[in-house]
Amino acid sequence: MALQFHNSLSRQTEEFTPLRPGQAGLYTCGPTVYNVAHIGNFRAYVFEDLLRRTLKYCGYQVTQVMNLTDVDDKTIRASRHAGKSLAEFTQQFKDAFFADLQSLRIEPAEHYPAATEHIAEMIELVGRLLARGVAYQAEDDSVYFSIERYPKYGCLVNLDPAQSRSSGRVRHDEYAKESVADFALWKAHTAEDGEVWWDSPWGRGRPGWHLECSAMSMKYLGPTFDIHTGGVDNMFPHHEDEIAQSEAATGQQFVRYWLHCAHLIVEGRKMSKSEGNFFTLRDLLGQGFSGREIRYVLLACHYRQALNFTRQSCLDARSALQRIDDFIARLRQTDSAENRDGNPSVEPEETLCQRAKKDFKEALEDDLNIAEALAALFNLVRDGNRRLDQRRMNGREASDILSLLHDFDSVLAVLEADKGEEVPAAIEQLAQQRQQARRDKDFARADALRAELAEQGWSVEDTPDGPRLKPSG
Ligand code: AMP
Ligand code: ZN
Repeated sequence: MALQFHNSLSRQTEEFTPLRPGQAGLYTCGPTVYNVAHIGNFRAYVFEDLLRRTLKYCGYQVTQVMNLTDVDDKTIRASRHAGKSLAEFTQQFKDAFFADLQSLRIEPAEHYPAATEHIAEMIELVGRLLARGVAYQAEDDSVYFSIERYPKYGCLVNLDPAQSRSSGRVRHDEYAKESVADFALWKAHTAEDGEVWWDSPWGRGRPGWHLECSAMSMKYLGPTFDIHTGGVDNMFPHHEDEIAQSEAATGQQFVRYWLHCAHLIVEGRKMSKSEGNFFTLRDLLGQGFSGREIRYVLLACHYRQALNFTRQSCLDARSALQRIDDFIARLRQTDSAENRDGNPSVEPEETLCQRAKKDFKEALEDDLNIAEALAALFNLVRDGNRRLDQRRMNGREASDILSLLHDFDSVLAVLEADKGEEVPAAIEQLAQQRQQARRDKDFARADALRAELAEQGWSVEDTPDGPRLKPSG
């Protein structure tokens, strides 16, 4: 099967054929760094990480660009409120963002362009739009994109021509669909902007938010590139405006595949700063959940389905991961055990691994069907456990399954235990000494060693496969 995605532009599922064979250019709208991102935002970033990792799993070389919006209405307002310079104010949230990406095991993009470092490219783009006659400078000195002079406006959200008539002008970065309007490309400086301005041929000012993404995506990926993503709330006006600006300037198709993720919701409502119903990753880490558990919650729901975030979903993620951890521990024991070349559990048709690998890949190729991909993984866990119970797996097979899981984890990034969860070497040694004492029938020493382990926060469970260590409490 070939890789296919649901393209928001055509509203159809299409086979992915990249512009350049074997390569995929990907632009993912990044954070507006005026506060700490909430986990609704991270739903989008985890979906994009799954997309990126799936492309790589399918053999593509990925160039991903994620912008950092460090100048717009919100960043300026918030920095002035905090009494800090824009650069100082946004830096703390850039740092927080990168730390959170790491906790969630999101693979770094190739480029993280900051808007404030690409003003020259933005000015150049505005100049081209003016030269092409689709933009104009208004009485307020700001430069606006003219909807009237661009008849293709509305193709992404499917506006009919009657709807896509400009109702006037908007200066704000964010506005509602009901008010299709000439939007600001370059905003002339006002008192509200304080110290934030750049010189341009149209006077002092700053770029509009939508312009930023057009200028930065085309700089790093070219006038036409493969995939552009974001949350559904970005479709209008942000992505619609990006298409208009880019295609009007270049006369070429801007993006070939648009992918949008549905919202993360809480009690039926979109999680958002303005609703006040949000959690940050830090809130959840503070409640004792790990980045790995939160990643699992965000990953496990198909990107086009609304994700209802609850505490229970975090607890469910914890037990799903525990099930995998237990399986991996059993496999490691079998792999290292004496029965490395024991009788294999030959199956008549395909082996466990072949089946799981095929199901896993086919599921991802089908518009990132993560539910099916995880089902392939959990079928492997179930069938593998059954064989281990029946002592029908030798060390070689266990090792094959472990390397397949490693392979799956290049996409999922949830199977490896967090550093803190790994068994330290000293603890492992104590457990081995206890095992030796038991073999020597020195039960007093074995008990003393168990007590010592408990004191260090580890419990030993004696299973049919041998002893297993778990952090206690
Ligand atoms: P922003 O910082 O508001 O520009 O948002 C950054 C990214 O997070 C964008 O792709 C948004 O579409 C996405 N986003 C914001 N809120 C949510 C939510 N509740 N669920 C999913 N994605 C969201
Ligand atoms: Zn954007």
